[in-house]
Amino acid sequence: MHLEKVTASDQAIKLEDKHGAHNYHPLPVVLSKGKGVHVWDVENKKYYDFLSAYSAVNQGHCHPKIVGAMHEQASTLALTSRAFHNDILGPYEKYVTEYFNFDKVLPMNTGAEAVETAIKIARKWAYEKKGVEEHQAQIIVCENNFHGRTTTVISFSNDENARKNFGPYTPGFIKIPYNDIDALKDALASNDNIAGFLVEPIQGEAGVYTPADDYMQKAKELCNANNVLFIADEIQTGIARTGALLAVCGKCSCQGHCEQQATYSKPDMLILGKALSGGNYPVSAVLADNEVMNVIKPGQHGSTFGGNPVAGAVAIAALEVVKDENLIQNARKLGDLFRSELNKYIEQSDLVSLVRGRGLLNAIVINDSEESTTAWDICMALRDNGLLAKPTHGNIIRFAPPLVMTEAELLDCVSIIVKTLKQFEK
Ligand SMILES: *Cc1c(COP(=O)(O)O)cnc(C)c1O
Repeated sequence: MHLEKVTASDQAIKLEDKHGAHNYHPLPVVLSKGKGVHVWDVENKKYYDFLSAYSAVNQGHCHPKIVGAMHEQASTLALTSRAFHNDILGPYEKYVTEYFNFDKVLPMNTGAEAVETAIKIARKWAYEKKGVEEHQAQIIVCENNFHGRTTTVISFSNDENARKNFGPYTPGFIKIPYNDIDALKDALASNDNIAGFLVEPIQGEAGVYTPADDYMQKAKELCNANNVLFIADEIQTGIARTGALLAVCGKCSCQGHCEQQATYSKPDMLILGKALSGGNYPVSAVLADNEVMNVIKPGQHGSTFGGNPVAGAVAIAALEVVKDENLIQNARKLGDLFRSELNKYIEQSDLVSLVRGRGLLNAIVINDSEESTTAWDICMALRDNGLLAKPTHGNIIRFAPPLVMTEAELLDCVSIIVKTLKQFEK
């Protein structure tokens, strides 16, 4: 008789399959533990995490300082709602606004909620400050954007999978090509009702598309000149990921406090999430100066959990870790090393056409059709070789490890990646 060996992984996957909605297609690996740059599966196999929960875990898995802050606050006071004040919110708001150099913050929980918040603020600002006629405000967005999954946010996606059969869609958005400054200029010139330009400084989900070095700065100048809010979605790119505190900082090391507009395209609204908690808790935020944020009055926007004491304590700790451990500098240094090492391989490769990215947000493009399974198959082989990554779109694989990695670990990872890719060379 043939007895099938049922592993703990198989069982966990079966349970999800049977009892969970099928809204994801995960790589078949069941994780049960994480520490720093590593995760372990239920069979105790150890992996390098090269996704970092879509860049939420920049500070590394289960960072003791962040977990400690969370634990302490959770066992002191977890949630008051905003019906009452709590003694963490004010200090957190002071800390985060000084950290990113804005007057005010509006705290939310998930990234999509923060994007929704920014859209609402931009519209309200347009009606009350810019003088746009009610219901006429438009927001310019980019093709192939990813800003989350709510009905409004998917309304301006052009990913058919994300949109189809979820209509009717929210109006009020104008889509232009990404990294096309003339398209932005034309869109701004063609309409007097533009409230804002919502943009990712690097398009992460689309496949780590890095725009021209001066795209952010020129976009910001155009927005200024047209009295339009420049809204940066840094949920994935922000908080040291790209080797700068914010990706709008480009190659500048000012950590957001630069006085030179030439190197720091300070957004009118900054949207953060993911690594704002180091991945320990859903914490998101919209930051803006008074002129913009003060359009929001009591009762006009909110969230039961937004600004809760645990979120505040976790976010302060997570941001402190970024500074204490020089994660900006480390991401920049290791990112340069990663791309130069991979390029040595790519020069002789028929399989991989390029590596692109900034800091430790990178992707390789596989020389195969968008519909091919090669990228997925490579990720399966990477898994077998002890490194977890996932294709973003078709033939693109994103590599985004925690930023607490050492140089020796990074070189170890490069050798795993190169060894694996070589298995697929023809
Ligand atoms: C992940 C992400 C979001 C959505 O965040 P959620 O927390 O998943 O709602 C929005 N914008 C960008 C750029 C992201 O990467």
